[in-house]
Amino acid sequence: MAYESEALNPVQARAADLNARLRDAHPSEILRAAIEEFRAEGRLALVSSFGAESAVLLHLAAQIDPSIPVLFLDTGQHFGQTLDYRKSLAAKLGLTDVRDLRPQYQDLATQDPSADLYKTSTDACCHIRKVLPLDRALQDFDAWITGRKRFQSGTRLSLPVVEEGEGKIKFNPLANWSKTEIDAYAKEHELPAHPLVQFGYPSIGCWPCTHPVEEGEDARSGRWQGQDKVECGIHVVRAPAPSNDGVGGDI
Ligand code: SF4
Repeated sequence: MAYESEALNPVQARAADLNARLRDAHPSEILRAAIEEFRAEGRLALVSSFGAESAVLLHLAAQIDPSIPVLFLDTGQHFGQTLDYRKSLAAKLGLTDVRDLRPQYQDLATQDPSADLYKTSTDACCHIRKVLPLDRALQDFDAWITGRKRFQSGTRLSLPVVEEGEGKIKFNPLANWSKTEIDAYAKEHELPAHPLVQFGYPSIGCWPCTHPVEEGEDARSGRWQGQDKVECGIHVVRAPAPSNDGVGGDI
């Protein structure tokens, strides 16, 4: 997000200041700054998909504050391997406050009673299974940490280290890191990989919308294959709620 020469509200101005200060910092320094700025009041959370590269950010955060709230979107459509990995990785890293965010029963009953809404509208499905649960959870926080990196896809090439979104500060501590740096950190600290990585899944979301990719392909090209959709909706500027023929977000 470009902030120059725009009229900034206070949250955007704070994000711009933090980004100017941290844009070249090591991920640990960015996490420390986030924690110093927001954690004392309990206003900071980390959002993790417990996906292909999630262990790196979670390990970095656990070294500084293992009691940080970690929000996991339990969409009800995850691979069983992801749910197992969420449990084992949290235990290994000593994370003490992992929170499972689930869709509301009423939303599922009225909009997706057969759990197959993804077949007709991935955007509507992501909205009730990801966007709304995260929105509800983030009401308790002023700032959150994501695991996004610039190398993941063309849509993330200009990702800042700190940005404003929906009135909150978003820290992207790994924005600057390359795939090589991520892999080297995981190797150095002997972090367990998501079990599906070895089967060609470099980016892992819900099972109906995630496919393996070929060597050299965009890491996120296995998500929502055959559709224009590239993000689940939690990192995009929000449009009105989608209808059942429409739109979606991602971590
Ligand atoms: S990724 Fe697919 S299954 Fe998961 S919430 Fe979005 S549309 Fe639904």
